[in-house]
Amino acid sequence: MVRAGKAELALGSRHGGPSLVAMDTHDLLAAAATHAATYLDDVDTRPVAASVDHAELRERLGGPLPAHPSDAHGVLDELVAAVEPGLVHSAGGRFFGFVVGGALPVSVAADWMTAAWDQNAGIYVLSPAGAVVEEVAGDWARDLLGLPPGVSVGFTTGDTMANLVGLAAARSRVLELAGWDVGRQGLFGAPPIEVVVGAQRHVSIGASLRYLGLGSERVHVVPVDTQGRMRADALGTVLRELAGRPLIVCAQAGEVNTGAFDPVGEICDIAHAHDAWVHVDGAFGLWAAAAPSLRHLTDGVERADSWATDAHKWLNVPYDSGLAFVADPAAHRAATSLLTADYLVRDEVRRDASDWVPELSRRARGFSVWAALRQLGRAGVAELVERCCAHARRFAEQLGAAGRVEILNDVVLNQVLVRFLADDGDHDGHTREVIARVQSDGTCWMGGTSWQGKAAMRISVSNWSTTTEDVDRSVAAVLRAAGR
Ligand SMILES: *Cc1c(COP(=O)(O)O)cnc(C)c1O
Repeated sequence: MVRAGKAELALGSRHGGPSLVAMDTHDLLAAAATHAATYLDDVDTRPVAASVDHAELRERLGGPLPAHPSDAHGVLDELVAAVEPGLVHSAGGRFFGFVVGGALPVSVAADWMTAAWDQNAGIYVLSPAGAVVEEVAGDWARDLLGLPPGVSVGFTTGDTMANLVGLAAARSRVLELAGWDVGRQGLFGAPPIEVVVGAQRHVSIGASLRYLGLGSERVHVVPVDTQGRMRADALGTVLRELAGRPLIVCAQAGEVNTGAFDPVGEICDIAHAHDAWVHVDGAFGLWAAAAPSLRHLTDGVERADSWATDAHKWLNVPYDSGLAFVADPAAHRAATSLLTADYLVRDEVRRDASDWVPELSRRARGFSVWAALRQLGRAGVAELVERCCAHARRFAEQLGAAGRVEILNDVVLNQVLVRFLADDGDHDGHTREVIARVQSDGTCWMGGTSWQGKAAMRISVSNWSTTTEDVDRSVAAVLRAAGR
């Protein structure tokens, strides 16, 4: 236990700071635990949206940089009081606005330990436990997601960075096949890479392509069907025209509006016939593979070359936590290792996490992923995913049964698109109005989207704590807002 003497040292009181209330670390962290538990105990009683605006938050948090140290306990209390009205209560059970998930209590606890241990999980020698937990939790996640043994894994900040890792590995490998070492030679003068994407790809794919020098807009776009799934027949046509060039195909498991899955198995067959690399963005959808009743949606996904997913969405671990998997570990490491081949002094047993992600110093993200998987087990993850999907179907059934309400998508996963028809024919305007009313009512929070030219309310169910009662209360709030 760190006693007052050390706390004073940390506060610089030797250099003329104020005399401080003796506060040891134990009391401070116990106070934080109480604040956190109190928050989580009543998160479901608060209006879901933030209740203060930008100007008020500036007022609460702003002012000049303090000139002198102050008491840590006071800082903690002030922080909690200042920010809580500015939080969106997505940790609770009635936030359905984006696919964000909540945080399982065990993974929050593990995340606190991660902060207290303050490990630098970049290299093995700085945290043997931080390294081994990623090996173990990475392999557990691989198994659950139905990916082949032997794939490499990197623990990233999220799915955007996992997409970047997968596509960086793809870039290395397809250029290597064309006789070009992109790590050494860069892209200048390299054979052009052709990237093929579905029309409903996530924006983070475009961002990754931009970071990698592949350009977000020189991609070949394959049309999608009514649910947003890439059309495999159209992919075949596009690839035949590009045959012989370095090729990357980006597929998607779980479209952010409809939850639909590209036919990944078929895509892999067609793409591999052209020596293309297939990357799968499965930020939340890949978790369908962990649920027996939904696994068929991901059929063939194991034949892809790289996969990106999130742990902070459907696995319900705290931010930030993503996973990048690559079927060819050498291509993975060539893309992300800090070291170039010249300096390789590697220990094949003791894994340096920084070889598999774009960072060196980094948070030991594996601890909370390990804790979530250790607690839930295979059956618990399946149940979590299936329960969220059952809630989504309940939303669709109840809202769809109300008059002049349309469900726009096939509810195959956790996503529901809802449109409210207006008496005056302005369905878009009316739908947006209903969404705004729901958001200000505060019972629940749903976002808006545009689906194939139509305004829609987007409902995403991904929080472990959402109950059937939360769904029913939210349906009642939505129907009230819609005047039904
Ligand atoms: C959320 C999401 C992303 C981005 O993931 P982050 O974790 O926010 O970086 C990418 N693709 C899809 C399909 C998503 O749902």
